[in-house]
Amino acid sequence: MIDVILKKGKEKAVLHKHPWVFSGAIERVKGKPENGEIVKLLDAKGAFMAYGFYNDKSRVALRLLEWNEDVTIDEAWWRARVAGAVAARRFLLEPGVTDTCRLIFSESDYLPGLIVDKYADHLSLQILTSGMENIKPIIIDELQKLLNPASIFDRSDASSREHEGMAPSFGILAGNQPPELVAVVENGIKYHINIAEGQKSGFYCDQRDNRKIVAEYTKGKNVLDCFSYTGGFTLNAFSHGAKSVTSVDSSELAIETLKSNLALNGFAAVEHRSIKSDVNKQLRKFKEDNETFDLIILDPPKYAPSRSALDRAARAYKDLNRLAMLILEKGGLLATYSCSGAMDMTTFKQILAWAALDAGKEVQFIHQFCQPADHPVRASFPEGEYLKGLLCRVF
Ligand code: SAH
Repeated sequence: MIDVILKKGKEKAVLHKHPWVFSGAIERVKGKPENGEIVKLLDAKGAFMAYGFYNDKSRVALRLLEWNEDVTIDEAWWRARVAGAVAARRFLLEPGVTDTCRLIFSESDYLPGLIVDKYADHLSLQILTSGMENIKPIIIDELQKLLNPASIFDRSDASSREHEGMAPSFGILAGNQPPELVAVVENGIKYHINIAEGQKSGFYCDQRDNRKIVAEYTKGKNVLDCFSYTGGFTLNAFSHGAKSVTSVDSSELAIETLKSNLALNGFAAVEHRSIKSDVNKQLRKFKEDNETFDLIILDPPKYAPSRSALDRAARAYKDLNRLAMLILEKGGLLATYSCSGAMDMTTFKQILAWAALDAGKEVQFIHQFCQPADHPVRASFPEGEYLKGLLCRVF
């Protein structure tokens, strides 16, 4: 195994079990490892620190896997990690209630660059690191052994693979091609999911708990679901007796799927309106038309892909929230989210305070949202925390 020497003074994060070593922290590589090869990280004095995947194309040159020198990273080691992650999700799966969740969440499940989502009997897989690409056959085999899925579909078409010098990979890996629309259930609500063409890996199961919490406030309310995608919040609102729901999204495919999801659950189309539009434009239009709502959901895509983009993103979040506050009834509710990992809860609250000030409103935070149990945050890897939200009462 090839040795990689860490620069003196860079030991702390490794000792704290943080799984990333940036290329700038590496003193020397003794030899020429292949990208994705497992190497041994040593400190400047030559003492063992950890084993990890090497990749000289990535800013994260090493992704650490194991801190115990005596442990061998062999096939059984990988199988045990996959089995451990899958077993940890069993409690949230219940036939007829929820059959959909994230089974493996990359570094947070000690499997850097591997994401696996379960959609009823089908699995969707994403591999984002060259090291994990080498392990793919073992992962697929173990998933088949554990779950016997109808299909495993490769959605490794994310642009982030470029950072590791890898081409996209897409298509069926095991079993039969999944149907164009797979029927799943989450908290008793049915959805059609397009595994091959849907955004991300097909569905945003990270909002499962939050959709249910928000729904509890929707009875008899006129609800506006912004960035609705295929209707997660919309359907939950109807299931809890919302008076009307308006869903806004810029994607035609998302709106079409949302409509079929309404029918699938038997919710009346008369109380529903879908608008294919840019949310910022549409919020301005509602203001011009003097149209107001009792409860507004804002679940935008990631505005800050990195820390350097935070200032710009902060302005975008502020403006979006300000516009929503302007069309809320007095005492109405705003459920607002940020899935930008670079934005922490304290900053997000500050942005809402600024938005309220600009809108001439007062805001109470009445609930804080986070990501669910199938998207764990490892204490040694705070970067795994990305989803946060606030339920605000706006006066
Ligand atoms: N709330 C959804 C997930 C939202 S994902 C759920 O519960 O499943 C973000 C959505 O925002 C995507 O559907 C995307 O099509 C949409 N989107 C992105 N930018 C947009 C914009 N400027 N205006 C309207 N929709 C947008």
